[in-house]
Amino acid sequence: MKSRTKVVVIGGGIAGCSTLYHLTQEGWTDVVLVERNELTSGTTWHSAAQVTNFGMNQTMVGLKTHSINLYKELSEDPEYPINYHHGDGGIRLANTEAQMQGYRHFASMARGMDVHFEVIDAEECARRHPLISTDNLVGGLWDPLDGDIDPAQLCQALARRARNAGAEVYRNTPVVALTQHKDDTWTVHTENGDIDCDIVVNACGYRVNEVGAMMDVHHPVMSMEHQYFLTEPIQQIIDAGHRMPLIRCPISDYYCRQEKNGLLVGFYEQGCKTWGMDGIDPNFVNALCPDDLERVMDVLEGAFARMPALQEVGIHTVVNGPITYTIDGAPLVGPIPGKRNAFCIIGLRAGLGEGGGHGWLLAQQIVHGEACYDTWCLDPRRFAGHANVELCAQYAIQDYQNEFRFHFPNEHRPAGRPAKTTPLTPVLETENAEFTVVNGWERAEYFKPSAEFHTTPTFMFDEAHEVVAEEVRSVQGNVGLCEVNGFNRFEITGADRHSFLDRMFCGTVTKKANRIGLGYLLNHHGMVKCEATLANLPASDRGPDRVWYGSAAASEVHDMDWLTQHIRAGEDVQIKSLTNDQTILVLAGPKARDVLSAVSRGDWSAEAFPWLSVRECFVGIAPATVMGVSFSGELAYEIHVPNASLYAAYKALRKAGEAYGLRLFGARAVESMRMEKGFLHWKADLITEYDPFETGLDRFVKMEKPEFVGRKALKQRLSDGPRKKLVTLKIDTRKAAARGGASLMDEDRVVGTITSGDWGYRTGLNLAYAFVETGFSQIGRRMMLDLCGEMVGAEVIAPSPYDPTHKRMRS
Ligand SMILES: Cc1cc2nc3c(=O)[nH]c(=O)nc-3n(C[C@H](O)[C@H](O)[C@H](O)COP(=O)(O)OP(=O)(O)OC[C@H]3O[C@@H](n4cnc5c(N)ncnc54)[C@H](O)[C@@H]3O)c2cc1C
Repeated sequence: MKSRTKVVVIGGGIAGCSTLYHLTQEGWTDVVLVERNELTSGTTWHSAAQVTNFGMNQTMVGLKTHSINLYKELSEDPEYPINYHHGDGGIRLANTEAQMQGYRHFASMARGMDVHFEVIDAEECARRHPLISTDNLVGGLWDPLDGDIDPAQLCQALARRARNAGAEVYRNTPVVALTQHKDDTWTVHTENGDIDCDIVVNACGYRVNEVGAMMDVHHPVMSMEHQYFLTEPIQQIIDAGHRMPLIRCPISDYYCRQEKNGLLVGFYEQGCKTWGMDGIDPNFVNALCPDDLERVMDVLEGAFARMPALQEVGIHTVVNGPITYTIDGAPLVGPIPGKRNAFCIIGLRAGLGEGGGHGWLLAQQIVHGEACYDTWCLDPRRFAGHANVELCAQYAIQDYQNEFRFHFPNEHRPAGRPAKTTPLTPVLETENAEFTVVNGWERAEYFKPSAEFHTTPTFMFDEAHEVVAEEVRSVQGNVGLCEVNGFNRFEITGADRHSFLDRMFCGTVTKKANRIGLGYLLNHHGMVKCEATLANLPASDRGPDRVWYGSAAASEVHDMDWLTQHIRAGEDVQIKSLTNDQTILVLAGPKARDVLSAVSRGDWSAEAFPWLSVRECFVGIAPATVMGVSFSGELAYEIHVPNASLYAAYKALRKAGEAYGLRLFGARAVESMRMEKGFLHWKADLITEYDPFETGLDRFVKMEKPEFVGRKALKQRLSDGPRKKLVTLKIDTRKAAARGGASLMDEDRVVGTITSGDWGYRTGLNLAYAFVETGFSQIGRRMMLDLCGEMVGAEVIAPSPYDPTHKRMRS
């Protein structure tokens, strides 16, 4: 066994084997995998191992395509062929029009990744799968590349290729401890000796938190028991003369694929069971949980009704094994929060299908610092400190019970709520707030006209469309008040804070006291990494000279990692998070100044407190920090208040607002108004796949600066010219907003992808942002949008269609 290597991957299931193989593909061959037992002795050996191309966003579709292509290539390797039923095809069933609408959206999104799904009717489903009945069936989504693979052979093939490239695999080598050294390198202690390395990777499946504990990390991952059975041969399958397509059923929660001449049917029962929450038997190796078919009776009936042949055939094997879940159902693939040189590839619930792609994206992150796709949807840092095991269990149960039921836009499921609240949450509840969840925080989306008001899940505009219109009207005409909780806020102090920030941001960083600036941080490839507002607060009784760094609600751990990694030895910079201590009340509208002046002493005139100013003050009796910034495009103030004083500030503003017709507004109104202003959202419009020039942020980049993170790479990119451009579009329909991921077409060719879309109530425009080919980025250029299967016109318009010269917010 080596005593030193570059990377140690811990765990020899699909996650670890794929990571090891892809590290060698990225050029790192001095790498090692250690496995406590034999390869695939965790969950992988008994997986149903279906391999689909279907995903909820383009990153997921792209990584699954990588798996499929890789598995196909491996299966055709003459030296070590493996069993892969590639392209049996698969159907996701639907029994409502709303589900069909969703499938049409996912087909539009996949098209941008060169993946071609078909939405078919019930008769066509039955034609393609002769065993199913069409009772209570509207249709389904056809994935032509669906199939299944032999999981053990797949892992052996990956390990073999990695070994051939120079990697080493140590079986029967349990990791028992991890030590991180001052220089951020590691020693991996195993029962067979120690290995020093630069980087460790946790790929330990359901034992993720045993290894997590060795580095004082608790990952929000837990396991559910999951069962399938295998049937005796079925005559209709033998007679069909072709393999049966796979079935996934959101109506009765099961999946089904052909296994030999019978079927493998797996269930997601409502009375499901968590597993291993109080520790896992060390001898649970190559093992299964006890069968319990009683538990799946509710869903079994649905499967029997859809496939009557199941009623006639015997069951010869039942498999019940642990499967891992995370808080939002997607795996955690990337840097471990708060750690250096430590990565994970965990929480895989469809790891056989996805594992090839996850290992590929992780290896790229380890070797190059970033992957070819934006991996935020997989980033282990996307949850903050609230992501504990109990919360994770509640989400896991809900996700398991809804395995094949995708989320509709604006759909809020009840599990794990309320996780994070402010003193205002119950107050807004009495005002009929409809809440959404942002990084665990309950945030008001809009205020219902009555307690009974509810919306129907749909990809079209829903019943709240008019309610949001009213909120926007009151902000535009008078004044509105909105709570923005969980907004990320760091306090940066130290003598070198300005020079440090100047190096981190690609544009001008204002050093002037009481002034605010917006800026962007790039990664080392010159791509857009973070967006933040910097506010310079002079020394006061509330603290020393300091900068407040404000960024998107979910960015806390991500941005903290990025900033702290770049503080140089000897640099006097300290960063403290205030995210959980302070909440923002946004006061917006032409009468915002009147309301603020009524509750806060001082001169709030445009001359004394112009746009982009910051000032410490009191709102009523509540200490507050007021910023003259606006996401709505109206005159607006962000009032930052310590949570202990939040209710006091709110009451004072509500009371003063009575004279000015103040109304509450929520996140949906904000979303609409920011679209009309050309303001962008982190991780929707601002992603690591594009540089700031492609994203239209030219005015925020100062190439003349001698140094900033990403400058060298950006300079190189400049000479290559942009690949795509972010544009504002006007969509020719009043029925629905364009959804992120939807494809823009020129004839049959995809020329762009939507990043966000919403109705602009003040402009009367259906607006969207999209990255489009440069030839399609000129104002007036027309193309078609595949909006849930319907082709509608889309035209490039100038950014910021509402008050383009920003007079209102500067007034
Ligand atoms: C019944 C069932 C059906 C499924 N069907 C499908 C399907 O159809 N399609 C699909 O894509 N997915 C399916 N899955 C999910 C899929 O099998 C898993 O996502 C995948 O196998 C997880 O792989 P992994 O490598 O993350 O974990 P594992 O396979 O559990 O591998 C982790 C490895 O880490 C090792 N390890 C743990 N601790 C240590 C230590 N201290 N030192 C060294 N090594 C250690 C373990 O021994 C183990 O080998 C199914 C799962 C179940 C249970």
